[in-house]
Amino acid sequence: MVSAGFFESGLASVVSPLFYLQSLSKYYKTVIFAEIWKHNQGGERMKCQCSDLPDAFYLDEGSRGFAEGLKREISGNWIWLGSCPSCGQLWALDEWDKYQDQVVTRVNNRETWNVADTTNLRKQLLLKSRGGLTDTNCIWAGCTAKAVKGVVFCLDHLWNAGTRR
Ligand SMILES: [Zn+2]
Ligand SMILES: [Zn+2]
Repeated sequence: MVSAGFFESGLASVVSPLFYLQSLSKYYKTVIFAEIWKHNQGGERMKCQCSDLPDAFYLDEGSRGFAEGLKREISGNWIWLGSCPSCGQLWALDEWDKYQDQVVTRVNNRETWNVADTTNLRKQLLLKSRGGLTDTNCIWAGCTAKAVKGVVFCLDHLWNAGTRR
């Protein structure tokens, strides 16, 4: 003799795991959608800063993880070309060097990224980091250019001495 209770409990033991799985998959769908939504929200907030950045800056002055966020396109001689995965802007970055501050420069022409002369950009960066010029002349013999703040040399003579920041 089999009681009705047996069927009920037997049925319950089959149904409840199915129900459990269904609700579990519903739960995970909700979780996954929530994650996608969060990701998209983050994507909006994390919009790249390329258009707001100056044409040249010291890497450590850029946003955190700037270099890591770029796609490495080409490696050159102590310099590499990276592209922004969000807007495609190209940037040339100095490779890490124990003795020099890494500089990032905006690249507007992919063809000449490695041959374009960035000396002037780097000099202006040096000048900016020093706070500009003074009213006194450079002490270099015969030089009439104004000295950079905090030093006795003009920008060119400071640069020629190997100062980069
Ligand atoms: Zn960008
Ligand atoms: Zn000078």
